[in-house]
Amino acid sequence: MLLEVRDLHVEFRTRDGVARAVNGVGYAVDEGETLAVLGESGSGKSVTAQAVMGILDTPPGRITGGRVLFRGRDLLTLKERERRRIRGAGMAMIFQDALSALNPVLTVGDQLGEMFVVHRGLSRKDARARAVELMERVRIPAAAQRVRDYPHQFSGGMRQRIMIAMALALRPALVIADEPTTALDVTVQAQVMDLLAELRREYRMGLILITHDLGVVADVADRIAVMYAGRIVESAPVRDLYRAPAHPYTRGLLDSVPRLDRKGRELYAIKGLPPNLTRVPPGCSFHPRCPMAQDVCRTDEPPLYEVPGGRGSACHFWRECLRG
Ligand code: SF4
Ligand code: MG
Repeated sequence: MLLEVRDLHVEFRTRDGVARAVNGVGYAVDEGETLAVLGESGSGKSVTAQAVMGILDTPPGRITGGRVLFRGRDLLTLKERERRRIRGAGMAMIFQDALSALNPVLTVGDQLGEMFVVHRGLSRKDARARAVELMERVRIPAAAQRVRDYPHQFSGGMRQRIMIAMALALRPALVIADEPTTALDVTVQAQVMDLLAELRREYRMGLILITHDLGVVADVADRIAVMYAGRIVESAPVRDLYRAPAHPYTRGLLDSVPRLDRKGRELYAIKGLPPNLTRVPPGCSFHPRCPMAQDVCRTDEPPLYEVPGGRGSACHFWRECLRG
């Protein structure tokens, strides 16, 4: 297995008390596989990714338990130097906001080239040539000229392509993309997502695609993990989850996006808001919003039950939910 996260816990100290941002999360991604991690903002999906990438080492966030196994080695127990080496060449991250992720005072050519100078020992001239190749690979028109431009001189979609190029420059085995297309127009979104899917296939890398948008994941992901209030509430192959969700939260999400196969049906909105993570409701944390909630849901926290077909659901009533 390329990456395996096991029973991860992350806490934040806030003025309101300790927020359990990630509360026992586990997932796995293999080479060439795409895992979508879906959830509302504050569900813990980004924080989990940041813990994997090792960019959460500073307070107020703190990893309080669990393992992050990259090719079987627990990154959380390695020395910082060793971790940095593995991360540098082995995994890369694509962020939502390219403008703040890229350095505004360096040309994109210098930023892309720097990767090859530092990690591959190339000369400036060779590194520049590689930068142009990369820009061509992510289909930036007139790459040979534009390599001299600064980030702000590109459109949002083109900047996102440059960030993809940066992430893929060293051919990492794992890429984590956190809402990579959320800031873009709908048509540009589709183009960038197609490009990412194509490169994922070509490089056979593992991809973790973090999103709040179910519409984005259907065509690109193999598996999907749905997060709610710091936990995974459902995990399944994408097609199975779309056909029959095994958790009421997933069902609510599915019913709230327009779908061609359900034309004419009224769209549903999950009532209420996700909980404050310093005061997660007892029992099932979804119970105040759940249309299927029973008494037991208010007292007993559901484990992630095994559901046939390599699936998991943290709902006491997953069978009823599956039946629809
Ligand atoms: Fe709803 Fe109960 Fe299932 Fe939680 S355990 S999702 S409250 S039915
Ligand atoms: Mg986020």
